[in-house]
Order: sequence, then C-alpha cells, then structure tokens
Amino acid sequence: MLAYINAFFFVQIAVVLGIILLKRNGAGAAVPHPPRLDAPPVAVGTWTGLREFRVIRREFADRARTQCSFYLQPADGGTLPVYKPGQFLTFALKVPGGEGDENLGEATIRRCYSLSDRPGSGSYRITIKRALAPLDRPELAPGVSSGHFHDRINVGDVLSVAAPAGKFLLETDADVPAVFVAGGVGITPLISMLRWSLEEQPGRTVHLYYGVRYGEEQAFKTELAAMAAGHPCFHLNVVYSKPGPADRQGSDFQFTGHVDLEMLRRTLPHGRHQFYICGPAPMMESLVPALVRWGVPQKDVHFEAFGPATVRLDSASATDTAALSGLPLEIRFRRSGRTLFWDGGDANLLDFAERHGVVVSSGCRSGSCGSCETGIADGAVHYEHTPDYEVRPGHCLLCVGRPESALVLEA
Ligand SMILES: Cc1cc2nc3c(=O)[nH]c(=O)nc-3n(C[C@H](O)[C@H](O)[C@H](O)COP(=O)(O)OP(=O)(O)OC[C@H]3O[C@@H](n4cnc5c(N)ncnc54)[C@H](O)[C@@H]3O)c2cc1C
Repeated sequence: MLAYINAFFFVQIAVVLGIILLKRNGAGAAVPHPPRLDAPPVAVGTWTGLREFRVIRREFADRARTQCSFYLQPADGGTLPVYKPGQFLTFALKVPGGEGDENLGEATIRRCYSLSDRPGSGSYRITIKRALAPLDRPELAPGVSSGHFHDRINVGDVLSVAAPAGKFLLETDADVPAVFVAGGVGITPLISMLRWSLEEQPGRTVHLYYGVRYGEEQAFKTELAAMAAGHPCFHLNVVYSKPGPADRQGSDFQFTGHVDLEMLRRTLPHGRHQFYICGPAPMMESLVPALVRWGVPQKDVHFEAFGPATVRLDSASATDTAALSGLPLEIRFRRSGRTLFWDGGDANLLDFAERHGVVVSSGCRSGSCGSCETGIADGAVHYEHTPDYEVRPGHCLLCVGRPESALVLEA
C-alpha cells in the first residue's frame, strides 16, 4: 500500500515538473494565444538584408497626381511579415546616374518609405510624393528616387527592400485619445496607425489634423471620409493653407491655415492626449517644442521627420550646450585625407563634411536608412534622438551625429 502511495506521489511530481519545463521552453503552447486586440502586431517572420518584392498595383492617392501608392508582394511567393503601424521600408534602388546626373551610368541609392496601410492587409502599400526642385531653387534637379518611382516603376517590376523598421509607433493605451497631426505626405505612417486603431480599438477616440495646400493635393480623400463616416470616435480635421476655388469649407475641409498649437488648443477637448506628428521640417520644428512648452509630457509627443529637421526640446539643448564647451574639435576624415575643425555651427557631421567638400554617401538625412554609416577609428559621436537605423558598433551615422570629442572617421 505504502509503495502504491509513494508511486502515486512520484507520478504527480513528475507530471507537475514536466508541465513547468514545457511551459518554460514554450513547447507546451499547443493552443495558440488569441491575438491581443489592444497590442499592435509584433513584426514576425521578418528578414535580414534585402528581399525582392513585386509591384502588384499602383494608383494615385490625390487628384493632382503628386502622390502615388505602390502595392507590393514578396517576389518569391513567401509570406508577408506583419509590421507595426508607423514603420517604414527601406529601398535599394538602381537609378540612372545616381544622385541627379543621368550621364553617370547606374548607381544604387537608398530611400525610406512609410507603410501606408494597416498591417495584415495582404500586401505592403507605400505612397510616394514626387519631390520637385525647391521653389526658390528651380535650377536644381528634382528628387531622384521619387521621380524614379513615379516615372519608371510599374506593375510587375521587382524592387529590393529591407525589412520594416522604425520606432515611430502607436502606443496602445486605449484610454488615452490619440491625436495624429500630418503635414502633406507625412500622412503615410499616420494613416497606418489610424486604420489599425479604428479596427482594433474602435472605442478609442482619435483625432486627425491633416494639413495640405488645397483639395487637389489631399491624399486618401475617399478613404478618410469613409473612415470618418463609419467610426463615431474618429474626428477628421482637414486643414487647407490655400483652398482652391472648388474647395468647400465644411465638406472638403474644416479649417484654413496651418496646423499649429493654437488650432489644437482651440479645438481639442481638455484632458490627456498622445500626439503623433509627421510633416515637413517647419511643422515639426515649431509644433513639437510648442506642445512640450504647453505642458504635454515629452513621452506623449511622438514624431518622425522624412528628412532633415532639427527638433529642439529643452533636454536636447542642454546636452548641446555641454558638448559645445570644448570647441573647436579636430575631425579627421581618413579616406579623404582631410583634417577639419568642428565649431558647432553645422547641424550634423554630414552637413559639415559636405560643406567642406568631403565626399560621403547619404540617403534619408534623418538617421533611418544607414547610407551614411561610417566607421569611427577614434572618438565618440552623440545623437540628439536615438536613430531608427541600428548603427553597428564602432560606426556612426553622419546625418544625425554630432561629435562628442575629437574624431577620426573612416570616410
Ligand atoms: C522614415 C522615413 C519615411 C519616409 N516616408 C515617406 C513616404 O511615406 N512618402 C514619401 O513620399 N517620402 C517619404 N520619405 C522621404 C523619402 O525617403 C525621400 O527622402 C523622398 O522621396 C525624396 O527623395 P528623392 O530621392 O526623390 O529626392 P532627393 O534626390 O533626395 O532630393 C530631395 C530634394 O532635394 C533637392 N535637391 C536636388 N539637388 C540638390 C542640391 N544640390 N542641393 C539642395 N537640394 C537639392 C531636390 O530637388 C528635392 O527637392 C520618408 C523618409 C524617411 C526618413
């Protein structure tokens, strides 16, 4: 009898230990966890390096045909990894002549484009605005990559793409209303967050302030109107800075002017909000610090710039002041054989190198694509904001880096 009882206990202990071990190793997860609706999808099944994607559809997103959407699927027929709303893809593009000069043969450039649809929609969608020469410098060449997409990329073409990346992500506390502020093509990551939020957190209040010049340039007009009609918690505010003769206030747009702090203060209800801002440099450089000065905690202000933008928050300025004390700093570019002196006047090491004629490659100019990654032989580099691109140890990104000490760089 005693032997019986002992054996019974042994079996029970063995079963309990077995269950604990299985759980620890994850092998016991025979029943998959249901997806949590309050968490954004985890980027699963992603890839390293470049993967080939085929363009399966293209269509303009605005009536003026300045912004074109491209839908992509893996060329190998494999699965499409889920991404997080707000992330972007990096493209390695072979373009004639490279940066602006068609006589130079072919070159590879890298550019980032935000995913502009909700994850899980069956394909990746990016939406690209054609970059023209700046109005005050019409003699300059128009944008290389955006022009290449608009003029030469068609259905059936295959593109080399790096996996979804980026830290401009939606926080999923459904109790805190989200405020999306988009300027121009900055709508792309925000429409991804918006679509995800409306479908997965339908009770969450979301406001979109979307600034464009006039109706012809408003992207996703029908899509946004349908979302606003179908979701009572979604408050759509379209803002035109120069409404056209056919644009009607109340139906086509709600406000005239630019999205600024004054407009947000006037129109948002009281209470805590999380802000997500993506737009041109002047919008980011004024609105982000203004929100923080207004009293919005920095953790509630998320932003992404599509190019160079110097968003100065109080803590960043303090770091800068400290770094400026030991100026000038000697910066040696080893491959170029140049020794220069940093006096703190340039926004970053890329501007500094280019101003002195040091040839370095560059892409996004905002720490996202890795084109300007350069080895550091000696010294240290400081970033105001942690770059999206994962910098390899012993390297730095020139486009968002500033020297913390004298430097010897490989470039
Ligand atoms: C994270 C991230 C996400 C992004 N998402 C999107 C997106 O969803 N949609 C989108 O449209 N863009 C997006 N961008 C921007 C995109 O990556 C490109 O920067 C944009 O398409 C312009 O690239 P381009 O090659 O066409 O222009 P470039 O060739 O890089 O030229 C840019 C501008 O510089 C001007 N220029 C040319 N020569 C000179 C010169 N010598 N001096 C000064 N200026 C000159 C050009 O006329 C043009 O106006 C994103 C960027 C980042 C970093």
